[in-house]
Amino acid sequence: MGAIRTTCAYCGVGCGISAKVTGARSLTIAGDMAHPANNGRLCSKGTHLGETVGLEGRLLHPMLGDRQATWDEALDRVSQAIAATVADHGPESVAFYVSGQLLTEDYYAVNKLAKGFIGTPHIDTNSRLCMASAVAAYNRAFGEDVVPCSYDDLDCADLILLVGSNTAWCHPVIWQRIEQARERRGAKLVVIDPRRTETAEQADLHIPVAPDGDIALFNALLASMAEAGEVDHAFLRDRCDVRKDFFANLKNAVPGIPADLFRKLAKLVAERPRMVTLFSQGANQSVCGTDKGNAIINLHLATGRINRHGAGPFSITGQPNAMGGREVGGLSSTLACHLGFSPEERADVAAFWQTSSLCNGPGLKAVDLFRAVHAGKIKFLWIMATNPAVSMPDAGFVREALAKCPTVVVSDILTDTDTARFADIRLPALGWGEKDGTVTNSERRISRQRRLFAAPGEARADWSIIAEVGRRLGHGDAFGWETPHAVFCEYAAMTALSARHGKLLDLTHWADCTPGAYQAMEPFQWGGEHPLAKRFPTSDGRARLVRVQAPAAKSSDAWPLRLNTGRYRDQWHTMTRTGFSPRLAAHRREPLLEVHPDDAAKHGLVDGGLARTETPYGTAVFRVSLCDGALPGQVFTPMHWTDVTGSMGRTGRLANPQTDPHSGQPGFKDTPARIEPVEPDWRAFLATTVIPETMPVDTYWSRSRISAGWLYEIAGEGTFAIDTLLPPGKISEAVDHKRGMRRIVATNADGALVAALFLTRSGMLPPRDWIAAELGKNAAHAAEWLAGRPAQPAPDRGPIVCICHDVGEQQILAAMADGAQSQADVGARTCAGTNCGSCRPIISRLLEENRSAIKEAAQ
Ligand code: SF4
Repeated sequence: MGAIRTTCAYCGVGCGISAKVTGARSLTIAGDMAHPANNGRLCSKGTHLGETVGLEGRLLHPMLGDRQATWDEALDRVSQAIAATVADHGPESVAFYVSGQLLTEDYYAVNKLAKGFIGTPHIDTNSRLCMASAVAAYNRAFGEDVVPCSYDDLDCADLILLVGSNTAWCHPVIWQRIEQARERRGAKLVVIDPRRTETAEQADLHIPVAPDGDIALFNALLASMAEAGEVDHAFLRDRCDVRKDFFANLKNAVPGIPADLFRKLAKLVAERPRMVTLFSQGANQSVCGTDKGNAIINLHLATGRINRHGAGPFSITGQPNAMGGREVGGLSSTLACHLGFSPEERADVAAFWQTSSLCNGPGLKAVDLFRAVHAGKIKFLWIMATNPAVSMPDAGFVREALAKCPTVVVSDILTDTDTARFADIRLPALGWGEKDGTVTNSERRISRQRRLFAAPGEARADWSIIAEVGRRLGHGDAFGWETPHAVFCEYAAMTALSARHGKLLDLTHWADCTPGAYQAMEPFQWGGEHPLAKRFPTSDGRARLVRVQAPAAKSSDAWPLRLNTGRYRDQWHTMTRTGFSPRLAAHRREPLLEVHPDDAAKHGLVDGGLARTETPYGTAVFRVSLCDGALPGQVFTPMHWTDVTGSMGRTGRLANPQTDPHSGQPGFKDTPARIEPVEPDWRAFLATTVIPETMPVDTYWSRSRISAGWLYEIAGEGTFAIDTLLPPGKISEAVDHKRGMRRIVATNADGALVAALFLTRSGMLPPRDWIAAELGKNAAHAAEWLAGRPAQPAPDRGPIVCICHDVGEQQILAAMADGAQSQADVGARTCAGTNCGSCRPIISRLLEENRSAIKEAAQ
C-alpha cells in the first residue's frame, strides 16, 4: 500500500503526515511535503506516532460495569438512561463533556444530539481549558470567533511576540518556522513569559512578566505607541469602534519589569510594524485570560497591525481539533456554526435540524458543569475522548462529582484511565489511525484525517455511536448518516446560517461534495489568509477596542509561592498515547517540580529529592528540579501524570478552579502554593516487563515506558512485600552493604531477565539505562544484572537530548570539545537535531553555555 496523507493526532499546528502501513499495527511516518501547515516538517511527537498505534491497553468491546456487553445492549442502556433522565428530571439533567480530540464530524453529531434533540445546552469541551479565553476575546473584538492570521504571516513578520507560549516545546513546527524567519529575514523574537523556558532562552528579548502581568504590559505598550505617534488613526476611524477616552490614563510602565527592558521592547515594537503576537495557554489559562486576549488585540487594532501580511494577534490552539469544535458549536456558549442563542438564530437552527426540542440558551461551562454534577443537578454525563478526572482543575472535586453521578458513560480508546474508573458504561471508540473525517488547525485550515487501520475489536467511530443513540431516541431522520462524508456535508450546508447572521464561517461550497471529493479533499483554509480584511462581523462591521485593566497583585503569607502548570515537549495531555512510546518517555521520566534555587534553599529542598506541593485544592509529590529559569516565588509542574502512571504526581489536583468571568476558562497558570521536602525511608527503581497489579507504596511512584516494559521510580516508608512488585520467576538477590543497597532480579523459565529491583535507604542507585535495556535478554549477563552495570561500562551519555537519533548530552558536549561550534556542526558529528528539530533549543543552550570552552578549544 502506498502512503496515505493524513493529519497529526496532537497539537493545533495540524501538521500533515504521510503514513505508510507496514504491518498489522505498524507504520512509518513522514511529514507531508504538500501540507501547507508544515511543508514536510514534524516534531518529536508527530515523528513517533508509529510507536503509539499498538493495541496495548485498548478498550475493544462495550462494557457495562466490568461485564463485556454487545453494542445493542450498551446502546440500549445509554439511550434508556438518557430517556429516563430526561423524563424524570428534564433535559438539562443530561450533559456531555467532549474533546478537541474528536473529529469535526463527531463534534457536529454530538452537538446536534445534545442541543438539538435532547434539548440540553450542557455540552462543553476540554477546549474550554485550553483557549476559551481567546474565543471570548475574538468575539468581543471582532463579533465572531475568527482567527485573523495565517502561518504564512510568521514567514514575513519582522517581529514575533510570543505570549505565554513555550512554542519550542508545545508547537514545535511553528517554532521551526519562527527559527527560519529569524535566519532568513532577521525577524526579532520577544518572549513574554514568567518562566525562562527553552523558547525564552532563544529569544532576542525575554520579558519575565509576573503571572497575569500581561495586561499591564500590553496597556503600557499601547501607551508608548501612542506617545511615539504609532497609533493608526485612519484605521481606527475607518474600521474600529473606540471610545474617545480609550488612551487616557494608560501607564507607560509595567510593575516588576525594569524600565530599560521595557524601553527595549517598546522600541522594537515601534520600529517593526510587521508584528505577529502569538498567544497560547499561558495567556488563556487565567482568571483574566479574556482581558489578556483583548489587551493583545487592542495593540494590534490601535496600530493597524492586522489584516496585512506579517501582522496580527494570533491565538494558537493546543489540540488537533479545538478549532473544529469551536466551529460546529462544541462549546456550551455557542449554539452551532458560530451562532448564538438569539431568537432568530435559534429559529434558524431549529428549522435546519427540523427539531422542536432545541435548547433555550447557553449551557454550563466545564468547571460549572462539574459543579452541577457534584450538586446532583446533572444526572447523566457522557464523556468522550478526554480524562477530566486528571485534567480538570481541583480534580479531587471532579472525582467526587463523577462518583456521585447516577450514570457516567465514557467513550475512550483505553480500558483504564482515571476517568474510566468512574464509568458505568464504557464504549470503545476509534483512535488516531482508525478515524476518518476532518480537523481544523489554528489557522482555520481544514484537513482530512484518514483511516490507516481497520477498527480493532468492536471499536466504532464516535459520530456513528452518537447516531445510533439518536436513532434509538426516536430521531431516525435526523441521525440517519451512514458515513462521515454525509455528516460533513450536512455541517457544511448548515454554515449557510452563519452567513445569514452576518458571520464569516462558510463551508457551503462543500455541502454537495461527492464521497470521492471528500476522500480527496486537500487542506483548505476557510476565510482565506486574512478573513477580516473586508469587514469585521460585528453589527456595524467595525472592530471593538475593549478597555481592560490589570488585576491587582496577589500575595499571601500562608501560600508564599505561585504554581504554574504546563506541558513537556514529548508528552501529550494525560499520556494515553504518548505514554506508550519508549522514545518519547526518554525526555522526562518523572513529573518534576521546577523550583528556583533560592526557594529550594528557603524550603529545604534538594535537587533530585522529593517535595510535597500543597495548594488550597490538594497535595501532590514531585521530583525536585532546581531551575533558575523559574522566577523566585514561582514553581512549575507538568500536567501529564495520572493515577495510572503515578501515585502523587497529578497536577490537576492542585490547580485553581477559579475561572475567567467571560470565558469560563480556569486559572491553571497561577495557583497559590507552598512546598516542603519529603524524606522517604528508602528509594528504589524497578525495571519490569509486567505492570505490577498493585503498587504497595503511597509516598511516591511514577512509571514510564521503556523498550521492553516499564521503568518505575519509587520511594516509601516502612516495609512492603517486595514480591508484589515482581513478576513470577526465579529470584536472585544481593545485598551491597557498602553501598547500602538491595538488588533483586527476576528471570523467566528461559533465563531471560523479566524484572530488576534496586532499593537503597541511604546510598546511590545505579543508572537505569543499561539494566532497563537488558530486560528480555538471556542470562549471558546474569552476574552483571545484580551489579546493575556491565563489566565494561560504556561511556556515560548523559540525559538523552535527541530522541530521534538517541544522542545524549555528554555526546553533544564531546562533539563541542571536538570543535563543533554550531547546530550544523553538532548535527554533522552526532546527527542530533537533524530530524524533527525538537531538541535544537537544548543544543543551542549547550552551545551558548559552553561558548568560551569551545573558543578555547578552537585556539
Ligand atoms: Fe503534531 Fe508536532 Fe505538528 Fe503538533 S507540531 S501537529 S504535535 S507534528
